[in-house]
Amino acid sequence: MLSLDALPERQGHVTSKAHFVPEQFQCERATLPGVISSRACVLYGARWVLAPVREVLHLIHGPVGCAYYSSQVRGKNYPVYSTALKEEDVVFGGQQKLRRAIGEALRLQPAARGVLVYTTCAAGLIGEDVETVCREASLQFGRPVVPVNCPGFGGKSQGTGHDVAARVLLEHFIARGPAGPVLENTLNILGEFDVQGDLQEIEQLLSELGLNVLCAVSGRAAVENLALARRAALNIVHCRRTGELLARLLEERYGISYLKGSFFGIAETAKTLKAVGRFFNREDACGHIEEKVAETWRRVAPYLPQLAGKRVAMFFGASRIGSMARAFQELGMEIVFAGAQCGSREDYREAGRCIAGGDTLLVDDASVQELGEFLRRCRPHLMVGGTREKFLAHKLGIPYLVFPQQNTPYAGFNGFVNLAREAAATINAPVWQMLRPARPPDLVILSARRWAGAGPGRRPSSSLSGREGPGAACIPPDPPFG
Ligand code: SF4
Repeated sequence: MLSLDALPERQGHVTSKAHFVPEQFQCERATLPGVISSRACVLYGARWVLAPVREVLHLIHGPVGCAYYSSQVRGKNYPVYSTALKEEDVVFGGQQKLRRAIGEALRLQPAARGVLVYTTCAAGLIGEDVETVCREASLQFGRPVVPVNCPGFGGKSQGTGHDVAARVLLEHFIARGPAGPVLENTLNILGEFDVQGDLQEIEQLLSELGLNVLCAVSGRAAVENLALARRAALNIVHCRRTGELLARLLEERYGISYLKGSFFGIAETAKTLKAVGRFFNREDACGHIEEKVAETWRRVAPYLPQLAGKRVAMFFGASRIGSMARAFQELGMEIVFAGAQCGSREDYREAGRCIAGGDTLLVDDASVQELGEFLRRCRPHLMVGGTREKFLAHKLGIPYLVFPQQNTPYAGFNGFVNLAREAAATINAPVWQMLRPARPPDLVILSARRWAGAGPGRRPSSSLSGREGPGAACIPPDPPFG
């Protein structure tokens, strides 16, 4: 049995699938002070959703570092403007600077159809009246200038920023669209960001059911199609954390039904397509979906022997853990670790339902020290997560796949084949065989001692010691404690 020692204050954030009780799991809580958490701030959460919105300018009202930090989203650089607040602005106020910046940005981009003004910690702390400045600028420039109230300290995690963004999209983009009858055979996909062509894969599958995607929020979101979104017949929630609130608001206000579904993995993709087909009375399409499923299994067959029994650690958005766990398990892989920066109870409940193994660790808000220690103990053949954790995994000699992905779509049936191919290629890359067992980074040794909180001479018990695998080959035995 894997040891689950943790700092006393963090123990409720760490459990195994076998001991997982959703009501007792400590997620949705503030980060423990002093822990170097991977969580992002509220500003970044708003940017995560709004950054891809086209035809409008994005202006960060705060120090230039906040703009730099929030310009790269899902590995892509989005152009942003910044008021670059400095010390004197914090003392004397930055509203004049904001007015000038809005005018200057619109002069540089005269075709822009509006401006989104994001607040930051500095703007929030000094009490900038951003709403009034935006209202006056809207009148002056004849275009919407929309305040996005998302100071970094405004919530426990980026999740608050996702909610702020949903309300901005509803009130300032979707609600401004003209009313009209429901457009037949149309739908929106909420919480879909079109990473490396995911949206095209999903759209192709839906078009085979005779359906059109009006708006993907926010992988394909611009002023025109956001204005049409209120006339769709159905909303699909693809990412619960970024899409469900907007779906609920659209149902309340415009009566648009929504269903939650995933396009990651064969079974999940087929299940979602069938649910959508039932909604639009396309039950006759089921046979076509089953043919696609059979064809996909034929295409992934060459990779299955390379992946069978391989251990996977996952660390990314909690809403995706359940569906991605199913996808990797379909490939015959074992989930040994599943964590997220900030997950809701519902996210972890779903993860618990989807993950097969009882020993699988579930961790919310893991710090880099904890991640390093978990990886040392779980010894996965593959880690899947964001770009930040990649370097830690590489230092430990663990093959790493970035998700949201860097190269090809993983959504839909074609995406599943891509996932299988890239997982097999990553695990079997010759570079892992060339690594020599090396002393682990000091960071991990220190954290292992401290994190375990053990007395002198104590070692964690682990049934995983001595397991083999590309990653394990490079990971030295656990260092002595005390
Ligand atoms: S908004 Fe606050 S927490 Fe976010 S990047 Fe700026 S200073 Fe940091």
